[in-house]
Amino acid sequence: MSAPNELALREEMIATGRRMNATGLNQGTSGNLSVRVEGGFLLTPTGMDYDTLVPGDMVRMRMDGSYEGHREPSSEWRIHRDILATRPEVGGVLHAHSMFSTSLACLRRPIPAFHYMVTRAGGEDIRCSDYATFGTEELSRHVLVALEGRLACLMANHGMVALGATLAGAFKLAVEVETLAAMYWRALQVGEPVLLEPEEMRRVLEKFKTYGQQPARGG
Ligand SMILES: [Zn+2]
Repeated sequence: MSAPNELALREEMIATGRRMNATGLNQGTSGNLSVRVEGGFLLTPTGMDYDTLVPGDMVRMRMDGSYEGHREPSSEWRIHRDILATRPEVGGVLHAHSMFSTSLACLRRPIPAFHYMVTRAGGEDIRCSDYATFGTEELSRHVLVALEGRLACLMANHGMVALGATLAGAFKLAVEVETLAAMYWRALQVGEPVLLEPEEMRRVLEKFKTYGQQPARGG
Protein backbone atom coordinates (compact mmCIF):
# COMPACT_ATOMS: atom_id res chain seq x y z
CA MET A 1 0.00 0.00 0.00
CA SER A 2 -0.53 2.47 -1.11
CA ALA A 3 -1.32 4.99 -3.67
CA PRO A 4 -4.92 6.15 -3.20
CA ASN A 5 -5.96 4.30 -6.34
CA GLU A 6 -4.54 1.07 -4.94
CA LEU A 7 -6.59 1.52 -1.78
CA ALA A 8 -9.67 2.00 -3.96
CA LEU A 9 -8.82 -1.24 -5.80
CA ARG A 10 -8.47 -3.12 -2.51
CA GLU A 11 -11.87 -1.81 -1.42
CA GLU A 12 -13.36 -2.80 -4.76
CA MET A 13 -12.00 -6.34 -4.32
CA ILE A 14 -13.73 -6.65 -0.94
CA ALA A 15 -16.97 -5.23 -2.32
CA THR A 16 -16.80 -7.65 -5.26
CA GLY A 17 -16.14 -10.57 -2.90
CA ARG A 18 -19.24 -9.62 -0.93
CA ARG A 19 -21.23 -9.44 -4.15
CA MET A 20 -19.95 -12.94 -4.96
CA ASN A 21 -21.49 -14.05 -1.65
CA ALA A 22 -24.74 -12.20 -2.36
CA THR A 23 -25.09 -13.65 -5.86
CA GLY A 24 -24.21 -17.19 -4.76
CA LEU A 25 -20.99 -17.33 -6.81
CA ASN A 26 -19.02 -18.09 -3.66
CA GLN A 27 -19.34 -21.38 -1.85
CA GLY A 28 -17.78 -20.95 1.59
CA THR A 29 -14.41 -19.23 1.28
CA SER A 30 -13.56 -20.89 -2.04
CA GLY A 31 -13.66 -17.86 -4.34
CA ASN A 32 -10.73 -15.56 -5.06
CA LEU A 33 -10.03 -12.40 -7.01
CA SER A 34 -7.10 -10.52 -8.47
CA VAL A 35 -6.53 -7.10 -9.98
CA ARG A 36 -3.52 -5.98 -12.01
CA VAL A 37 -1.46 -3.15 -10.50
CA GLU A 38 1.87 -1.58 -11.37
CA GLY A 39 4.58 -4.22 -10.90
CA GLY A 40 2.24 -7.12 -10.24
CA PHE A 41 -1.24 -7.73 -8.89
CA LEU A 42 -3.41 -7.68 -5.78
CA LEU A 43 -4.89 -11.02 -4.70
CA THR A 44 -7.37 -12.02 -2.02
CA PRO A 45 -5.85 -13.92 0.93
CA THR A 46 -6.40 -17.63 1.44
CA GLY A 47 -9.33 -19.03 3.40
CA MET A 48 -10.87 -15.78 4.65
CA ASP A 49 -14.49 -14.72 4.70
CA TYR A 50 -15.10 -11.59 2.60
CA ASP A 51 -17.34 -10.20 5.34
CA THR A 52 -14.34 -9.87 7.64
CA LEU A 53 -11.75 -8.57 5.15
CA VAL A 54 -10.18 -5.13 5.33
CA PRO A 55 -8.09 -3.49 2.55
CA GLY A 56 -4.81 -4.37 4.31
CA ASP A 57 -5.66 -8.09 4.06
CA MET A 58 -5.18 -8.07 0.27
CA VAL A 59 -1.85 -9.57 -0.79
CA ARG A 60 0.37 -7.63 -3.17
CA MET A 61 2.18 -10.08 -5.43
CA ARG A 62 4.96 -9.67 -7.95
CA MET A 63 5.04 -11.68 -11.16
CA ASP A 64 7.79 -13.93 -9.72
CA GLY A 65 5.36 -15.13 -7.03
CA SER A 66 6.91 -13.21 -4.14
CA TYR A 67 4.51 -11.12 -2.09
CA GLU A 68 3.99 -8.44 0.53
CA GLY A 69 1.38 -8.27 3.24
CA HIS A 70 0.52 -9.98 6.49
CA ARG A 71 -1.77 -12.59 4.89
CA GLU A 72 -0.99 -15.67 2.81
CA PRO A 73 -2.14 -15.38 -0.81
CA SER A 74 -4.87 -17.62 -2.20
CA SER A 75 -3.53 -21.09 -2.99
CA GLU A 76 -4.51 -20.49 -6.64
CA TRP A 77 -2.13 -17.55 -7.00
CA ARG A 78 -0.40 -19.28 -9.95
CA ILE A 79 -3.57 -19.22 -12.03
CA HIS A 80 -3.98 -15.49 -11.38
CA ARG A 81 -0.29 -14.78 -12.02
CA ASP A 82 -0.10 -16.86 -15.20
CA ILE A 83 -3.25 -15.35 -16.68
CA LEU A 84 -2.11 -11.79 -15.93
CA ALA A 85 1.38 -12.59 -17.28
CA THR A 86 0.14 -14.01 -20.59
CA ARG A 87 -3.01 -11.99 -21.27
CA PRO A 88 -2.11 -8.28 -21.36
CA GLU A 89 -5.72 -7.32 -22.14
CA VAL A 90 -6.86 -8.76 -18.79
CA GLY A 91 -6.96 -6.57 -15.68
CA GLY A 92 -9.14 -8.66 -13.37
CA VAL A 93 -9.48 -12.41 -12.67
CA LEU A 94 -12.20 -14.17 -10.69
CA HIS A 95 -12.19 -17.81 -9.60
CA ALA A 96 -15.16 -19.51 -7.95
CA HIS A 97 -16.68 -22.88 -7.15
CA SER A 98 -20.13 -21.67 -8.15
CA MET A 99 -22.81 -24.36 -8.10
CA PHE A 100 -23.84 -24.93 -11.73
CA SER A 101 -20.50 -24.21 -13.42
CA THR A 102 -18.81 -26.58 -11.01
CA SER A 103 -21.49 -29.26 -11.39
CA LEU A 104 -20.93 -29.24 -15.17
CA ALA A 105 -17.16 -29.22 -14.59
CA CYS A 106 -17.53 -32.38 -12.49
CA LEU A 107 -19.11 -34.03 -15.53
CA ARG A 108 -16.18 -32.63 -17.62
CA ARG A 109 -18.87 -31.09 -19.74
CA PRO A 110 -18.10 -27.83 -21.58
CA ILE A 111 -20.92 -25.35 -22.20
CA PRO A 112 -21.68 -25.63 -25.93
CA ALA A 113 -23.48 -23.20 -28.25
CA PHE A 114 -26.89 -23.84 -26.67
CA HIS A 115 -27.54 -20.09 -26.20
CA TYR A 116 -26.18 -17.09 -28.09
CA MET A 117 -24.96 -15.46 -24.83
CA VAL A 118 -22.24 -18.14 -24.63
CA THR A 119 -20.34 -15.80 -27.00
CA ARG A 120 -19.90 -13.34 -24.10
CA ALA A 121 -17.05 -15.61 -22.99
CA GLY A 122 -15.31 -14.89 -26.30
CA GLY A 123 -16.17 -17.81 -28.57
CA GLU A 124 -18.68 -20.44 -29.59
CA ASP A 125 -18.32 -22.50 -26.41
CA ILE A 126 -17.00 -22.35 -22.86
CA ARG A 127 -14.39 -25.08 -22.46
CA CYS A 128 -13.71 -27.28 -19.48
CA SER A 129 -10.01 -27.58 -18.56
CA ASP A 130 -8.28 -30.86 -17.75
CA TYR A 131 -7.95 -31.78 -14.09
CA ALA A 132 -4.92 -31.27 -11.85
CA THR A 133 -4.54 -30.85 -8.07
CA PHE A 134 -5.54 -27.43 -6.75
CA GLY A 135 -2.77 -24.87 -6.36
CA THR A 136 -0.40 -26.61 -8.80
CA GLU A 137 1.45 -25.25 -11.79
CA GLU A 138 -0.05 -28.09 -13.82
CA LEU A 139 -3.58 -26.85 -13.04
CA SER A 140 -2.59 -23.35 -14.09
CA ARG A 141 -1.27 -24.71 -17.41
CA HIS A 142 -4.52 -26.59 -18.05
CA VAL A 143 -6.57 -23.47 -17.30
CA LEU A 144 -4.48 -21.34 -19.69
CA VAL A 145 -5.12 -23.88 -22.48
CA ALA A 146 -8.89 -23.87 -21.84
CA LEU A 147 -8.84 -20.04 -21.86
CA GLU A 148 -7.17 -19.72 -25.28
CA GLY A 149 -9.24 -17.18 -27.21
CA ARG A 150 -11.74 -17.09 -24.33
CA LEU A 151 -12.51 -15.00 -21.28
CA ALA A 152 -13.90 -17.84 -19.16
CA CYS A 153 -13.60 -21.59 -18.67
CA LEU A 154 -14.77 -24.38 -16.40
CA MET A 155 -12.14 -26.29 -14.41
CA ALA A 156 -12.60 -30.07 -14.25
CA ASN A 157 -13.88 -31.29 -10.86
CA HIS A 158 -13.11 -27.88 -9.40
CA GLY A 159 -14.84 -24.66 -10.52
CA MET A 160 -14.64 -21.82 -13.00
CA VAL A 161 -12.55 -18.79 -13.99
CA ALA A 162 -13.70 -15.52 -15.54
CA LEU A 163 -11.53 -12.70 -16.89
CA GLY A 164 -12.17 -9.04 -17.62
CA ALA A 165 -10.39 -5.87 -18.62
CA THR A 166 -11.41 -4.79 -15.12
CA LEU A 167 -12.49 -6.63 -11.99
CA ALA A 168 -16.05 -5.38 -12.58
CA GLY A 169 -15.93 -6.94 -16.06
CA ALA A 170 -14.69 -10.26 -14.69
CA PHE A 171 -17.47 -10.27 -12.09
CA LYS A 172 -20.13 -9.50 -14.68
CA LEU A 173 -18.89 -12.32 -16.91
CA ALA A 174 -18.74 -14.76 -13.99
CA VAL A 175 -22.41 -14.06 -13.24
CA GLU A 176 -23.19 -14.59 -16.93
CA VAL A 177 -21.28 -17.89 -17.11
CA GLU A 178 -22.97 -19.18 -13.96
CA THR A 179 -26.37 -18.19 -15.37
CA LEU A 180 -25.63 -20.01 -18.63
CA ALA A 181 -24.43 -23.07 -16.70
CA ALA A 182 -27.69 -23.08 -14.72
CA MET A 183 -29.76 -22.77 -17.91
CA TYR A 184 -27.81 -25.49 -19.67
CA TRP A 185 -28.13 -27.74 -16.61
CA ARG A 186 -31.91 -27.25 -16.53
CA ALA A 187 -32.28 -27.81 -20.28
CA LEU A 188 -30.35 -31.09 -19.93
CA GLN A 189 -32.95 -32.32 -17.43
CA VAL A 190 -35.58 -32.40 -20.20
CA GLY A 191 -33.55 -33.44 -23.21
CA GLU A 192 -30.58 -32.62 -25.38
CA PRO A 193 -30.54 -28.85 -26.05
CA VAL A 194 -30.54 -27.78 -29.71
CA LEU A 195 -27.18 -26.18 -30.50
CA LEU A 196 -26.71 -23.09 -32.64
CA GLU A 197 -24.59 -23.44 -35.77
CA PRO A 198 -20.99 -22.13 -35.70
CA GLU A 199 -21.98 -19.63 -38.39
CA GLU A 200 -24.70 -18.18 -36.14
CA MET A 201 -22.29 -17.95 -33.20
CA ARG A 202 -19.82 -16.06 -35.42
CA ARG A 203 -22.62 -13.69 -36.44
CA VAL A 204 -23.47 -13.03 -32.79
CA LEU A 205 -19.79 -12.47 -31.95
CA GLU A 206 -19.63 -9.85 -34.72
CA LYS A 207 -22.85 -8.23 -33.56
CA PHE A 208 -21.59 -7.91 -29.99
CA LYS A 209 -18.42 -6.20 -31.25
CA THR A 210 -20.56 -3.31 -32.44
CA TYR A 211 -21.97 -3.03 -28.90
CA GLY A 212 -18.47 -1.98 -27.86
CA GLN A 213 -17.72 -2.48 -24.18
CA GLN A 214 -21.36 -2.28 -23.18
CA PRO A 215 -22.54 -5.21 -21.06
CA ALA A 216 -25.25 -5.80 -23.62
CA ARG A 217 -27.95 -8.33 -22.85
CA GLY A 218 -28.75 -8.68 -26.51
CA GLY A 219 -32.32 -8.66 -27.72
ZN1 LIG B 1 -10.70 -23.28 -6.36
